[in-house]
Amino acid sequence: MVDIKSVHKSFGSLEVLKGIDLAVHTGEVTVILGPSGSGKSTLLRTVNHLEKVDRGAISVDGVLVGYRRSGDKLYELPEREVLRQRTRIGFVFQNFNLFPHLTVLDNVIEAPVAALKRPRKEAVESARRLLDRVGLADKADAYPRHLSGGQQQRVAIARALALEPRLLLFDEPTSALDPELVGEVLDVIKDLARQGTTMIVVTHEIGFAREVADTVVFMDDGRIVEQGPPADVLDAPQHERTRSFLSKVL
Ligand code: ATP
Ligand code: MG
Repeated sequence: MVDIKSVHKSFGSLEVLKGIDLAVHTGEVTVILGPSGSGKSTLLRTVNHLEKVDRGAISVDGVLVGYRRSGDKLYELPEREVLRQRTRIGFVFQNFNLFPHLTVLDNVIEAPVAALKRPRKEAVESARRLLDRVGLADKADAYPRHLSGGQQQRVAIARALALEPRLLLFDEPTSALDPELVGEVLDVIKDLARQGTTMIVVTHEIGFAREVADTVVFMDDGRIVEQGPPADVLDAPQHERTRSFLSKVL
């Protein structure tokens, strides 16, 4: 479903992605691990064109992200086309990024109503179902500042799901949470995995990766060092860099 082909990305003279090749299959969970600065967030952001690639290409369901091909040339899509593509890809950030001045319910219906022009009543019904699914049916009228971090992150997940995305991207969804709140967010993500949601999850939660990932990808210094099933990458890593990283986070 996601095809990442020799993606390169630099910020000024700093090459952050040095040729990334990765295939993510429909219904599978891909977990990306790696040290700070290895390029995990940048890679995730290229998948919905929050970062433009310098070289290479990314396609989702066979459709190029951010570009249109004409002959052997690529042309960047106009902003409104990029926004339309992005409505099919949900993104959950480390810091929740909820709208502070909107209630929980209004956070969840904002995108379906504004971007997809769904009738408000329909959007509200579907938002209530989603809030129920993440265990927050009783918080619909609360404001984000009155919720715990774990609850805010579950709202952010409901908000991402409201667009019925074909792909969900998570960038360290639990690393801003107090330890006792991590489990409730991971449980929601595990539930999505069981239902066959295609996801790419950047996380340092190794237990979660072992339990949920179909593929674990270890990145270091802008490259994929190794990738494979959790039993291979986590329990029998082939590369010294993977071993040394795992010994620090486990
Ligand atoms: P972390 O685990 O700390 O989140 P990461 O693996 O997600 O790290 P990235 O955020 O992708 O790493 O950053 C990779 C490198 O690119 C870092 O050296 C970072 O400073 C640099 N970088 C990221 N975004 C930008 C930007 N917009 N402008 C300049 N440099 C950037
Ligand atoms: Mg990051």
